[in-house]
Amino acid sequence: MQIPLVDLKSQYKKIQPEIDAAIKAVIEETAFINSRYCRDFEVEFADYCRAPNVNAPHANAPYCVGVANGTDALFITLKAMGITVGDEVITVANTFIASAEAIVAVGADVVFVDCDSDYYTLDPRQIEAKITPKTKAILAVHLYGQPAQMAEINALAEKYTLFVIEDAAQAHGAIYQGKTVGTLGHAACFSFYPGKNLGAYGDAGAIVTTDEKLAVKCRMLANHGRLEKYSHRMVGYNSRLDGLQAAILSVKLKHLPAWTDSRRRVAAYYTQHLADVAQVKIPRTLAGVEPVYHLYVIQAERRDELLAYLKKNGVGAGIHYPIPLPQQEAFASLGHKAGDFPVADDLAGKIISLPIFPEIENTQLDYIVKKIRDFYHE
Ligand SMILES: *Cc1c(COP(=O)(O)O)cnc(C)c1O
Repeated sequence: MQIPLVDLKSQYKKIQPEIDAAIKAVIEETAFINSRYCRDFEVEFADYCRAPNVNAPHANAPYCVGVANGTDALFITLKAMGITVGDEVITVANTFIASAEAIVAVGADVVFVDCDSDYYTLDPRQIEAKITPKTKAILAVHLYGQPAQMAEINALAEKYTLFVIEDAAQAHGAIYQGKTVGTLGHAACFSFYPGKNLGAYGDAGAIVTTDEKLAVKCRMLANHGRLEKYSHRMVGYNSRLDGLQAAILSVKLKHLPAWTDSRRRVAAYYTQHLADVAQVKIPRTLAGVEPVYHLYVIQAERRDELLAYLKKNGVGAGIHYPIPLPQQEAFASLGHKAGDFPVADDLAGKIISLPIFPEIENTQLDYIVKKIRDFYHE
C-alpha cells in the first residue's frame, strides 16, 4: 500500500466538474485580476471566519483582503501596522519560516519564544520576559490547526499595547472559545497554498481583520498603493489574489466544513488507536478549542527509525519541522545555540506527522496504525 502525506489528486477527482466549470468561467470572462471572483471569495471567506453561531448574512463578518500568498499576507499586515526598522516582533521558535521571514521583510527584529510542550504553540508563560520597549507585536501561530493560547496572549498585548497577529495558515475554521480563528487578534493571515486545509491550485492568501482602517491599508499596499485605478496614495506592492485561484477557492470553501469534519474523524481514529502505545505520545487539545488538524503530529520514541520503517512500507509521514527556526542558518546572525529553546529543540527530535487528508480511507488508516504498532511490537 502507498499512502501519501496529502493527496490533492483524489480531492480534485471528487469535485472535478465544479472546479473545471469555475476555471472555464474565469477564462471566458477574462476575469483574471481584481474581478468579481476575487470580491466574492473575500466576502465568502469573511463570513466563514465569523463566530459559528452567526447566521444572518454578513452579520459581524470581519474584512477580508485577498493577497498573493500567505507570506505576503503576513508581510503586508505587519507593514500596514507600521512595524519597521528598530521594532521587535515576538513569534514562536517552531513554525514554518514564513512567520519569521515576514518580520524580517519589514525590517523589524524577530524575537523567538519557545513553544508549549503540550500544545506545540507559543508558550504564553515565556512571552513577558521577551517584551522590551521596542516590542510592537506578537505573531502567534495556530500550528498544525490548533489555535494558540490567545486569551493569555491578548492579555499581555493589552498590558503592553502590542498588536496581535494570528498566523492562521494552518487553521482555517478552527474554533477558540466559541470564536473562529481570524477574529482572535488585530489581524489574521491565511495561506491557501495547495496543501493547506483550504488550498488553491497555486499560490494564494488572505488577510482577515475586524479593523476597517487596517483592511483598507492592506488592500492598498497589496495593489500598488491604490484603491482606484490611477490614484496611488502610497508606494505599495503587487500582491493580489488571482482570479482563477479565487474562483477555485470559492468552490472549495463550500466543501471545507465537510473536509474539516473528516480531518477531525481521522484525528479521532489515530488518537483512539494509538493512545495505548507507550512509545507514542498523541497530540493534546487545549480546553475550549476545536482544532482543524492541518497535521496530526505525534511524538515517537526512535523517531527516525519509525519514519524510515513507515517510508519502507509506503507510508508518507513527515516532520514539521525538523529544525527549529533559531537553529536555521538563515537566523544565524541572532546567535542562538542549541538548548536556547529546549522545548522546540526536544520536539524537533521526536515529532512525526502522520498522513491526514479528508479523503483518506479507513483501510489506509488501519494499515498506518498497524505498521506503527508492528514497529514497536505492540
Ligand atoms: C504555509 C504557511 C505560511 C506561508 O504561506 P504561503 O502561502 O506558502 O506563503 C505561513 N505560516 C505558516 C505557519 C504556514 O504553514
